[in-house]
Amino acid sequence: MVTSFKISGFTCPACGSVFDARTVTSITHQGQDSDFLPHYLGENPLPYFLVQCPDCNFSAYPEDYAEPEVVQQKVSVPTIKRILSLPICRKIPEEALKFFIAGKIYEETGRNPYHIGNLYLRGSWCCRIHDNRKAEIEMQQMAVKFLRLSVERSTINNPDNLPVVTYLIGELYRRLEDRKAAREWFSAVEEVLIDQEQQWILELTQKQAELNEHFIN
Ligand SMILES: [Zn+2]
Repeated sequence: MVTSFKISGFTCPACGSVFDARTVTSITHQGQDSDFLPHYLGENPLPYFLVQCPDCNFSAYPEDYAEPEVVQQKVSVPTIKRILSLPICRKIPEEALKFFIAGKIYEETGRNPYHIGNLYLRGSWCCRIHDNRKAEIEMQQMAVKFLRLSVERSTINNPDNLPVVTYLIGELYRRLEDRKAAREWFSAVEEVLIDQEQQWILELTQKQAELNEHFIN
């Protein structure tokens, strides 16, 4: 079993265009990077987690197309044009750009910062896959900003995720070579751990905290 896809029909909530797009139906992975980029088996599914309108470039998760009224009030074609005119859009790989546009649309529509941070994190993974470290750094900085907001404003719906997100913020800071911030967030993981079954995250934190102290990236 490797990555599999299907083709579905969509109507763009921003411009009304009707089109078909490929979405992911199953994935398999073996291992992951320390910021949870899965090592996928078969074709890389990341770009197909989002559906992009071929006419106006609106990008969102497939399920977001099912709630067009949420989007229609705030996202129009000019909104997307404005997003696309930002300088960063010329520097990041096309697959990462989908996540960037979706993240910006989520910002415009006032979505949970946890989900916004996750979109930018996935964008940073696309940059890493394309060996574009500069773009990866920009997207990691955006990911960490919104993941931090989600912890600070307690917007993470599942409390079991809090230790994992706290670790992830530390790990992103470590990758961004901000040792002090990485240390702070790594040391907070133990405080927020409630479930003993999550011992693995503590072990991973200790390992990455040690790397952080020895300045190995
Ligand atoms: Zn469109």
